[in-house]
Amino acid sequence: MIQPQQDWIRKWGVYSPGKVAVAEAGTGRSLTYGELDRIGDALCHHLQSAYEVEKGSRIAVLAENCLEYIALFVAVQRMGCTLVPLNYRLASAEFDYLLKDASPGLAICEAKFEASLKAAPAFAQLPHYWPLSELSAFCEERRGYNGPAFPLQPVEEAHPAFILYTSGTTGFPKGAMYTHKMLFWNSINTAMSLIVTAESRTINVMPPFHTGGWNVLLTPFLHHGAYVLLMRKFDPSAVLQLLQEERATLFMGVPTMLKMIAELPAFQKAVFPDLHYLIVGGEPMPIPLIEQWDERGVAVRQGYGMTEVGPNLTSLHQDDAIRKKGSIGRPNFYVQIRIVDDKGVEVAAGEPGELWLKGPMVTPGYWRKPEATAKAVHQGWFATGDMVIQDKEGYLFVVDRIKNMYISGGENVYPAEVERVLRSHPAVAEAAVLGVPDQQWGEAGCAFVARAEGQACSAGELQAHCRAHLAKFKVPRDFRFVAELPKTDTGKIDRGGLKGLL
Ligand code: ATP
Ligand code: MG
Repeated sequence: MIQPQQDWIRKWGVYSPGKVAVAEAGTGRSLTYGELDRIGDALCHHLQSAYEVEKGSRIAVLAENCLEYIALFVAVQRMGCTLVPLNYRLASAEFDYLLKDASPGLAICEAKFEASLKAAPAFAQLPHYWPLSELSAFCEERRGYNGPAFPLQPVEEAHPAFILYTSGTTGFPKGAMYTHKMLFWNSINTAMSLIVTAESRTINVMPPFHTGGWNVLLTPFLHHGAYVLLMRKFDPSAVLQLLQEERATLFMGVPTMLKMIAELPAFQKAVFPDLHYLIVGGEPMPIPLIEQWDERGVAVRQGYGMTEVGPNLTSLHQDDAIRKKGSIGRPNFYVQIRIVDDKGVEVAAGEPGELWLKGPMVTPGYWRKPEATAKAVHQGWFATGDMVIQDKEGYLFVVDRIKNMYISGGENVYPAEVERVLRSHPAVAEAAVLGVPDQQWGEAGCAFVARAEGQACSAGELQAHCRAHLAKFKVPRDFRFVAELPKTDTGKIDRGGLKGLL
């Protein structure tokens, strides 16, 4: 049996040492597999001698996508330690919570976030701190390192390679333990479904504090000796240009990103001869947007994933992108599913139920949260909290998160369905619906709507539009117009933020 904790960069450092593994957009900096391998050895020795990093130690990092993050990943695989990426959009009080929660032995931070991190009271308790600028200089000097190698330090199966915090869409982010085994199997599932090979090329714009940044494509690409261009910030024009110039074969974005790119005038003339397909996930993908990309010759493969279970759990094949538009596809190869009612009993095909997942890419649990773990994991099955429907051909459709559902006059309402109808109105750019207390019906919908630029529409018009497409109990009673919907750091609609606007 192959041990899932592997040193991928050591292998590629031998097989294709001169091949560029990662590059940075805008800086011209890059690292070959050979350089990454050598820097990795030097870094492991230095982390051990200067910062007491050993097997099992945790290293917190607060930085944008950069080469040094990848060098740290090499050290994490090799040393069997744990990377804890911190979200750079948080405030000092939140850093304080995360530093206490993860209690790292070492923190590494980019200069522009330093003041905010240092303002967290828990910073003073950190055993070690290393500014990213110094790590950067260290890596630069060690490109040609030819000192002693650092051998792989094997760890227990449940030991996390990462602690990755969830998006916090439904509350405070939870730290999911992401093990070497999960890395390995997510990468195998991804390569089998999306055809990742050493020839693959991608641009990574997802933030490095989220599983979207690390595990949708980046770690599977490093596993397969492919090429990744890192972008620090999402910029739709730059991505559109780079997708063409860099001859990207795969690209992943959340729906908001794909929408911003498709709205650019230059998109109408863009040609993507090398782009096999786009991968989208994280939240529902509007169908008109799938069609817009299809018109430019690019199939949108909707997928479904979550921080706790590997981000590539299902995938829609490119040939089905239009025939089954709206579907998240079928389970990836080594993913088992069940769709169950609230008693854990399997529902019939076509009936909505909660999606449960099993396989080698399921987390052993949340970091230091045994109660949250016990709620989510049942005999190896992970209860996702998402309602899905599986059609007769086995294709899955996300209905909504169970937490978003509300009950109006005794009937279940899934806001995602109402939001889809609202978004189909030409004057609506974005819409989100919350269930709010209602004297007559128990709960009723309150719709938050951002109008499309230069468009006007009244609450009455939108209500009439909903009435034409939905049962009466699903039509929102109240409409609030906003300039823009609040978003989480990973670009999802922030429902907690919306509640604050009620
Ligand atoms: P938190 O768990 O902190 O509330 P989160 O669930 O948004 O935040 P992530 O792990 O980033 O954190 O997101 C996983 C969730 O995203 C899934 O459980 C599901 O609700 C949603 N999701 C992922 N892909 C899709 C998709 N294609 N369509 C609809 N929803 C999706
Ligand atoms: Mg979640």
